[in-house]
Order: sequence, then structure tokens, then C-alpha cells
Amino acid sequence: MFHGMLIEKDDQGYRTTVKSIDENVLPAGDVTVKVLYSTLNYKDALAITGKAPVVRTFPMVPGIDLVGVVEHSDSDKFAAGDTVLLNGFGVGETHCGGLATKARLKSEWLIPLPSAFSPQQAMAIGTAGYTAMLCVMALEKNGVTPDKGEVLVTGANGGVGSFAIAILAKLGYQVVASTGRVDQSDYLKKLGAKDIIDRASLSEAGRPLAKERWAGAVDSVGSHTLANVCASTKYGGTVAACGLAQGMDFPASVAPFILRCVTLAGVDSVMRPLADRIEAWQRLGEILDPAIFDDIVHEISLIEAIDVASDLLAGKVRGRVVVDVNR
Ligand code: NDP
Repeated sequence: MFHGMLIEKDDQGYRTTVKSIDENVLPAGDVTVKVLYSTLNYKDALAITGKAPVVRTFPMVPGIDLVGVVEHSDSDKFAAGDTVLLNGFGVGETHCGGLATKARLKSEWLIPLPSAFSPQQAMAIGTAGYTAMLCVMALEKNGVTPDKGEVLVTGANGGVGSFAIAILAKLGYQVVASTGRVDQSDYLKKLGAKDIIDRASLSEAGRPLAKERWAGAVDSVGSHTLANVCASTKYGGTVAACGLAQGMDFPASVAPFILRCVTLAGVDSVMRPLADRIEAWQRLGEILDPAIFDDIVHEISLIEAIDVASDLLAGKVRGRVVVDVNR
């Protein structure tokens, strides 16, 4: 038996509890891990609350991220005692995840914990921070350099947004943060934002083309916001799109793409090949100033994670939440 969060769905409905779980619940895998820390991402919150059909098989241990120590390995890639990191690959959705003291995983999903980070720091970054890095890499790949002008980050107070601001600012970009919580401007400026705009200016239906302002953008919001960001991106600019906090729709026109040569770069972290993951985590280690973790992160227990999941979906959580699964 092990201690963890379990999502069940049956005649009594959809429910999430923290309890003692039989090891038989864990699916097959060649590496068994004693989990140290997990996190709460937007997707975890959807799974825990049941607000969207993230979980595909039941019962399910949620948690798309984890750091842990290998207890047993049938793989020659990892040995007992190694500290490993996992982000995504359907873990916490179709394969039991990190919000528990034990996980059984496939070795091809794991990377060694990057030497730049402690287990808590790696989970403070988690899928949100690693996705922010992938978005910045997409901007770089498409030629968005700091001298090109302002770069917009939407969903600024969220996990992806907070790390996108910190990464871009450290790389020398002029970052503008779009938020519904302008009262958090001091936090956003401390992360490196030069300017703050109210997200209301982007969240309603807009024109196919607007005044050109952004050299690039990292968008974790989707819907009208993404359409308006594309419409106000400068000639030749790039928008990295990774999220749907406002909505999954994309009510846009082709005008920015065919008249201003704007690139819309889609970013997925879940099935990302290992080489990109290793590059992203290495870049995070080079770029991030460890001092920023104090501002971005707060730590909670497994049982607290159930209520915090609802707060996160209600837009009440700032930055990132680390879950200590052993308390
Ligand atoms: P968070 O909940 O931490 O942040 C989301 C932020 O979006 C909020 O803090 C809020 O920022 C803003 N927001 C919330 N609701 C709305 C709304 N209705 N309209 C406009 N803005 C809104 O989530 P994450 O940062 O963890 O994830 C953000 C998105 O990115 C999610 O949709 C998630 O699923 C997606 N994602 C995708 C990944 C991928 O692989 N493609 C990986 C990781 C995340 P503020 O208060 O500042 O306005």
C-alpha cells in the first residue's frame, strides 16, 4: 500500500480523495519511484475537480509532474538511488501520476534531475515552466530576438506566464505582461515585466488586423486573446501558443498570417521528444536566477491540493504550487 491522491468514477460519481492505495493500481513500468514532490498544473486541477475529461482511465492517481528517487529499475538507463524527473507523457491522465508517494513509470519517459535544481525547484518549474521555456525556444527559432521589440506574455500571473516573463526578461527581452490581476503588478515587475496591460483589452472579439505592437508573444490563454495577439503582432513576428485558460476556440482571421507574415507556433510539452526536454531543462538551468523561486512558489501538502485545485481554476493562485506528497 502507499499514500496518495486517487480519482475514482463509478455509480457514486466522480470523486477525488487522499487515501491508502493498493500497489496493484499502479500500471506496468520498468522503473518504480519513491516520489518526493509533485506540482499542481492547470491540467492537474482539471483532473482533480473533474471540470474537464483529462483522466481517461479509472481509478487514477493524478499528477503530470514528479521528482523522485528510483527504488527499483529493470532498465539499464536508471539504477536504484537515481533522482529522476518526469513531465507529461500522459502520466496523471492515462497512467498513474505523481500526486502520491509511489509511481511506476516507463524509463523512456524519465530524465535525470537537472543538476542546477533541487527536487523542490524542479517541481516549482514543472510542466508550466518547462512549457514556458519551450515557448521561448519557439520564438528564438523563428528569429524573435530582443532587439526586435516588445514581447507579450498573456496569463501573466499563472505558472506558464510567470516563468515566461522571468525567462524572457533574463534573456534581455522587453516583456509586457497581460493580466486580469493588475493589482499584482509589483510581482510581475519583480519577475521582469517592463509594462503591464489589462487582459480585458484582449479578451473580447477584435478586428482581423490591429495596430502592430508585438515582436513576439507567449500565449497560454487561447480564444479571443490569442486572435487579438496575432492581429497586433508586427510584420514577421511569432506567437507561441500553448494554452486555453480563456478557451479552446480560436476566433481569428488569416489576415495576420497572409498579410503580415506572422507565424503561429504551436507548443506541446506532453509528447515532446526527449532531446527537446533535455535542451529545455538545460536552458532553464542556465537562465533562471534561483532567487525567483521564493517569489513564484508556495508549497502545500497532498490533502491541501484538493482545495487548491479549485482555487487554481478560479484564477486565485499566483505563480506555482509545489506539492510535498510526503506530508
Ligand atoms: P494557471 O492557472 O497557473 O495560469 C493561467 C492564467 O491564465 C491565470 O493565472 C490567469 O492569469 C489567466 N486566465 C485565467 N482565466 C482566464 C480567462 N478566462 N481569460 C484570460 N486569462 C485567463 O495555468 P498554467 O499556467 O499552468 O497553464 C496555462 C494554460 O497553458 C492552461 O490552459 C494549460 O492547460 C496550458 N498548458 C499547456 C501545455 C502544453 O503542453 N501545451 C503545458 C502547460 C500548460 P492572470 O490572472 O494574470 O490574468
